[in-house]
Amino acid sequence: MAKICLDYGHGGNDPGAVYKGRKESDDNLSLGMAVATELRRHGVEVSETRTTDRAVSLAERSSLANKDGCDYFISFHRNAFQPEQAKGVETFVYTAPSTKSVQLAEKIQKALVGIGFVNRGVKRANFHVLRETRSPAVLVEAGFLDNSLDNQLFDSKRKEIVIALARAILSQLGISYTTPPPTSQTAPDSGQILYRVMAGSYAIRDNAQKQVARLKAAGFDATIMIYEKP
Ligand SMILES: [Zn+2]
Repeated sequence: MAKICLDYGHGGNDPGAVYKGRKESDDNLSLGMAVATELRRHGVEVSETRTTDRAVSLAERSSLANKDGCDYFISFHRNAFQPEQAKGVETFVYTAPSTKSVQLAEKIQKALVGIGFVNRGVKRANFHVLRETRSPAVLVEAGFLDNSLDNQLFDSKRKEIVIALARAILSQLGISYTTPPPTSQTAPDSGQILYRVMAGSYAIRDNAQKQVARLKAAGFDATIMIYEKP
């Protein structure tokens, strides 16, 4: 089974970048954990360097990853420069990167650029988590936290971002992305919540049609929706 280490940058007394009350540590955690959920749904084993708002040192992060022996290590961050001065996405690999890490970085970068972020490219850096982890490692800066347009994109396209990142990682693992089966709890993509009224479930279509006829006769708008039991 494929195993991925996800690292959510900063946390606890280290918020990372901060802008207008927004903390990088929160964005990293929330985005990363959503991606983790998608990966697990595809049978990928995920280990995480933190799952709460707590401080984790860089050394702890890399040793956790090395102990778990993952196929890939992905560190989630958001960028900062000067208020409203820079925007876009960049993905880092080590200064002497493995082929696999470059492949994954390019997929992740392409996924986020596809969402609408400015393409700042795949770059090389001597970051601790890239240097000290044994598995192919990438660090993604998912837009600038001190840029309102990037934050708007980050928030309004959150679902698309999570799926695009999951798709990119899964494709590097040779796993194809599958859309989750619809459930009655899932809100539609538009963000608008619809409350559907049920008036019975039937194993036999005839019985469903009879119920529709009864409802229509009673003045209700009724239709048959086919639902496959999981
Ligand atoms: Zn950071």
